Amino acid sequence: MVSSGNNSCGIGPAKNPAEGKRPIPGVRNVVAVASGKGGVGKSTISANLAVALARTGARVGLLDADIYGPSVPTLFHLKGHRLAGEEDKIVPAEANGLKIVSIGFLLEDDTPVIWRGPMLMKALEQFLHGTKWGELDYLVIDLPPGTGDVQISLVQMTPVAGAVVITTPQDLALIDVKKAVRMFEKVGVPILGVVENMSYFLCPHCAGRSEIFGHGGARKACAEMGLRFLGEVPLEMALREASDAGALLVSTAPDAPAAQAIAKAAADAAAALALLDSLG
Ligand code: ADP
Repeated sequence: MVSSGNNSCGIGPAKNPAEGKRPIPGVRNVVAVASGKGGVGKSTISANLAVALARTGARVGLLDADIYGPSVPTLFHLKGHRLAGEEDKIVPAEANGLKIVSIGFLLEDDTPVIWRGPMLMKALEQFLHGTKWGELDYLVIDLPPGTGDVQISLVQMTPVAGAVVITTPQDLALIDVKKAVRMFEKVGVPILGVVENMSYFLCPHCAGRSEIFGHGGARKACAEMGLRFLGEVPLEMALREASDAGALLVSTAPDAPAAQAIAKAAADAAAALALLDSLG
């Protein structure tokens, strides 16, 4: 069942959770992208991370599971795209070299949907195991902010190879990051590293640098928690403009400072995964 049924989302009752954790055939690494709170740029970074990985020649999928505000349809110029099905499976959209499924593809318009537990779990299960992902090196999952049902259900449904956590430099965001990190540790998901977004502002006129939200908080928190710091992404107008226009900065302007920082974070996260793999 892909998009039939009586409710507006076409999602029926949840499967029995006793079915347990199952790998996704053909998918080598499921990588969760998380944040302690909303508005830190998690979706922007996840989408650009996924494209940066694809630009290295990897086969990459992107699953937008951010139930509170799916941004992937906008970021990839896929607004209005509806889930398509074939042989009882979801067929992902394709853009920027990625296979893409977004919870936003289920919504008729911009009306917020109140996802009830079982409906949400059924949708997540179908996105993971009922989608024709094919052979992928990485399936990047853009999680909702915080530490809620989707995060817990994801790790119960499929093995997650690692998580990347996005934060801003302020203390408030960092407190929430620690909660997110602890949640992943509790459920046995390795943290690949932390990205500090909006780390500093790069003025497009004078190229001057201003540390609007403070600076260096995430690097310090990583040192305290023994985590890998994946780098600083500047607050850069070009990144916001590209995102609003449905373009991915890592592909349209790979030399822009924010694009370079994200590409480096992607390479470091991939190296962390490879290291985990080699340690078995
Ligand atoms: P989240 O997924 O954490 O809620 P978003 O990715 O939707 O956050 O980002 C929120 C807003 O901030 C978007 O308008 C996005 O374009 C903008 N944004 C995110 N990161 C940056 C950055 N480094 N520079 C400029 N704008 C950014």
